[in-house]
Amino acid sequence: MKKIVIATKNKGKIREMQDAFAHLPIALVPLSEFGNLPDAEEDGNTFEENAKIKALFYMEETGVACLADDSGLEIEALGNAPGVHSARFAGEHATDEANNKKMLAEISKKGIASSPAAYRCVLAYADTDGTVLTSEGRCDGVIRPTARGDGGFGYDPYFYIEKNKTMAELTLSEKDAISHRGIALREMAKKLQNHKN
Ligand code: IMP
Repeated sequence: MKKIVIATKNKGKIREMQDAFAHLPIALVPLSEFGNLPDAEEDGNTFEENAKIKALFYMEETGVACLADDSGLEIEALGNAPGVHSARFAGEHATDEANNKKMLAEISKKGIASSPAAYRCVLAYADTDGTVLTSEGRCDGVIRPTARGDGGFGYDPYFYIEKNKTMAELTLSEKDAISHRGIALREMAKKLQNHKN
């Protein structure tokens, strides 16, 4: 069975990735299995640049093929912010709560309460033979100021996929079916099946 290390410490993402790859002959192992590794410097300007930086960095650190993702929320009313800065919108190591508070404050500064938005995800896979594969997913919705649901993570309780339903009200498999990460993972799964190694 092919072993692939997942380059994230985010437990929500690890769960989603393991769920999406469950049917493949691939053992996804978390980065934590390799002890205390340094953090990759995510200094790219796009999701794709950052995903590739992380996949290559941890493939070299661990000596094992690596799958990394970079994802975030683009809010139309904020000129597509926070984008690649989604995890640290309210500052370095910001909590989900602080990021959500800042997001609603920034939207309200525009004199509006809600805005179209999209979650985006780019996955990068780097193998020890030099192969690099990428895939992308996108999920459109609307940010509204009323939180609903306690599933998911991050901005999910404010991300409406329908008039009265947020991403945080979906089960893991419902979210996987429509989410940016689910779409990118399925595309990556197909690419990995064709990548003989
Ligand atoms: P990354 O770990 O650098 O990819 O940062 C991604 C950030 O984007 C997360 O910390 C969340 O703030 C946000 N994000 C990405 N995907 C999701 C999602 O599925 N739900 C909620 N927030 C997300």
